[in-house]
This record gives sequence, C-alpha cells and structure tokens, in this order.
Amino acid sequence: MNKFTFRRGVHPPDRKSRSEGEAVRAMPAPGIVKVPLSQHIGAPCEPVVREGETVRKGQLIGHTDKGLSARVFSPVFGRVTGTEVIQTPSGGRVPHLVIENGGEGEEFRLPPLSDPGPLEIVERVREAGIVGMGGAAFPTHAKLTPPKDKPIDTLIVNGAECEPYITCDARLMEERAAEVFEGGLLLQRAVRAERLVFGVEENKPEAVRLLREAGAEVAVLKTKYPQGAEKQLIYALTGRKVPAGGLPMDVGAVVDNVHTAWAVFRAVREGKTCYERVMTVSGGAVSAQNLLVPTGVSFAEVLEFCGGLKAEALKVISGGPMMGFAQFNLAARTSKATGALLFLTAEELNTDKAGPCINCARCARACPMRLMPMYIDGFTLAGDLPGAKRYGALHCIECGCCAYSCPAKRPLVQSIRLAKKLIKARNI
Ligand code: SF4
Ligand code: SF4
Repeated sequence: MNKFTFRRGVHPPDRKSRSEGEAVRAMPAPGIVKVPLSQHIGAPCEPVVREGETVRKGQLIGHTDKGLSARVFSPVFGRVTGTEVIQTPSGGRVPHLVIENGGEGEEFRLPPLSDPGPLEIVERVREAGIVGMGGAAFPTHAKLTPPKDKPIDTLIVNGAECEPYITCDARLMEERAAEVFEGGLLLQRAVRAERLVFGVEENKPEAVRLLREAGAEVAVLKTKYPQGAEKQLIYALTGRKVPAGGLPMDVGAVVDNVHTAWAVFRAVREGKTCYERVMTVSGGAVSAQNLLVPTGVSFAEVLEFCGGLKAEALKVISGGPMMGFAQFNLAARTSKATGALLFLTAEELNTDKAGPCINCARCARACPMRLMPMYIDGFTLAGDLPGAKRYGALHCIECGCCAYSCPAKRPLVQSIRLAKKLIKARNI
C-alpha cells in the first residue's frame, strides 16, 4: 500500500479503539436548547425570530448580511424564549438563542436538487449554513468560490482524522460511504476540479475499503499527526507547497472535511439544513460513543446521555487532545464545530510541571511548519512581539507537536496562541 505523508510531525498513541467500533446513535434534544448564533469563522448571526415565536426543526433562526458568515437553524420544533450570552468551548462569549423544545410537525427542508450545476451547489451550501466541520468552521460556500485567477484542479476530501481519540469521521466514512462520496462529487463539481481524492489514514482500513467500493479514489496516508492539517495534507497528496501566508487555492486545491462532504450531500439531495452533527465522546472517564447531536445542547447534557462519569475526569476537552480546548465547566453548548468531547483521567494526562527550556530543539524538529517554537515562546515571554512575529508566530497552525515533544513540558502552544492574538490585536 502506497502511503502518503509530510515531513516532521509526531506519533501520539491514537486511543481510537475505545470508540471506533461504536455505531453512531442519535441523541434526542433536551427540553431546552440554547443555539449559538455564531458557530463559524466570520460575522455572528442576528436572530431572525422573535421571543414567543414558534419554530420548526430545520428552520432558519439566525442570519446576517454583514460580511462572511454562515446561517444558523433550529434543531427542534419549539418556542423561542429569549437570548442568553454563554461562554463557547474556546472561551469567547456569544449570544445563544433559547428554544423550548416541544411540539412536532414536518421538518423544514429546502427543495432537493437532482442535477445541480456548480453555482446551484454553492448557493445550496450557503443556504444550508454549511461550515468546515473538521473543527475550523470556516463557511464552506466561501471556500467554494475562489477568484477567477485561482483555478482549482484538485478537490481533496479530508478523512485523515489524525487527532487521538476522535472517530466520528471514521464512523461516517464507514456507515455513510456512498453519501460521503457523493458529497465529495458535489464539492468537486462546485469548484470544477478535474480530480477528487479522499485522504484517509492507514489506521482506518474499513473506511478506505468502503469508500473505494463506493467508487472513490482514496489515497492512504501514513498515520502521523497532524496529517489532516490542510497544508500537510495537500503536500502529502500532491507534492505542492502552499506558500507561507497563502491558501490552498494558491496551489489549485480545495480541502473539505468528510463531515462537510456529508452535510453537502444532505443539503443538496435531501434539502437538509445544518443543525446537527456527529461527534465522539471519549476518554477513560466515560463510556466512549459516537453520537449524532443537535446543536445547542450543553456538554453536561451530552455527558448525562452517555451515562455520566465512570471515573474521575481530571480534564475535559472540547475537540482533540492536541488542538482542543480545556473546559472549566460543562456549560458550553454543542455547535457545528463540536467534533469531540473528551473526559480524561489522571492516567491519560501528563501532569508534570513546566520547567525552563533546555535548548534541546526537539520542538523545532517536530514542527510541521518548520518554525522554532522555543524562540517564539522566549520572545512572547519577554514581551517582544515583533520578535515573535519575525520568527513566524503567525504561521503556526497550533497543532501542538512542539508542546507534545518538549521534555521540559513548556506550554508552547498557549504562548504562541497569545503571541498571535496580541500581534493581530495590536497590528504589529
Ligand atoms: S509552533 Fe505551531 S505549528 Fe509548530 S509545532 Fe508548535 S503548534 Fe505546531
Ligand atoms: S523542546 Fe522544550 S526544552 Fe527543548 S528547545 Fe523546545 S522548548 Fe526548549
């Protein structure tokens, strides 16, 4: 089997066996859902429904014309009771629309499209509020409309799922192979690409087999982190290097996640709007599962549905252990970007205290972006933000390979994230 890969990176234990055999099951919506009005990169939505109004499942509830954005839909039949500002999993505070779950009827659907052209597909993706569901939550319709001077010849569907523990994409590829493949074909048609290729890590042989059986071209990737990072994936599959500060379209490629492809299939063929997603709940402190979860459900409710804690969880992470966000409590709500919720025990975590840098350069040897994290960290701690920028802080993809490799356990990603935030905020 030919295995595609990139340079550098790390090999954390994948710990996927806990949930990879668990079929996706649907979690019913609780009595009250609180749906974030910003579930994407770009301008937050404004509510288009009023307090006291009755809404249908799948109905548009949030929208804005102020720049790049993605529409938000109700995951339930019910009544809008107000708006609340709640902390998101990444720490921001955004308004959430509160809906009392009750009532029934016919779910709102857009008219299915049987043979749509490229522009119709892009418009449907926009109407259905689809975002990058691998975690980035970038509005997909914007990705599908590159400028005329950037022709796309390759559409890559990202099925690498390289973060430890997470198995929701693998389950989708196994349980919905034909639909995921058709979603890929629709994305390919939308950007008029000649080639459609799925990139799947070698630790998911069943997904590779089923996608191939469905008719897809599948490139088997080496199991290595961060194989699913956009630039690393493009390099592995095409040998093209996205220039520093550039985008995949600069090298004729568009990358969309497997879950995004499935959402596109559902939006085009079934007229379904984007108000639910598949996520993995895992870690040593819970019974691992893959769930189809409505947006707007609290992490506490997700845990309760999974049977609660079976051991003490020392850390709760929204997302994967390498790139996810630690949670202070379980009040945050699920969104289109919530791919995983991990409840980790002391045995699964490294609780050593951070020490001083010993100049071993292991972080630099692991960095897939060829940065020197120890210097960026040093500049950030010294308050020298121009220095951090000079050493490429803005090119960091926050993959965590540096911190994972550091024998001194330095919190390098937090430091670089802070540098990026301050450099942008202060326009340095
Ligand atoms: S510096 Fe950034 S890109 Fe490089 S390993 Fe660390 S987190 Fe990843
Ligand atoms: S890996 Fe850690 S100790 Fe080694 S150079 Fe990088 S920051 Fe310093």
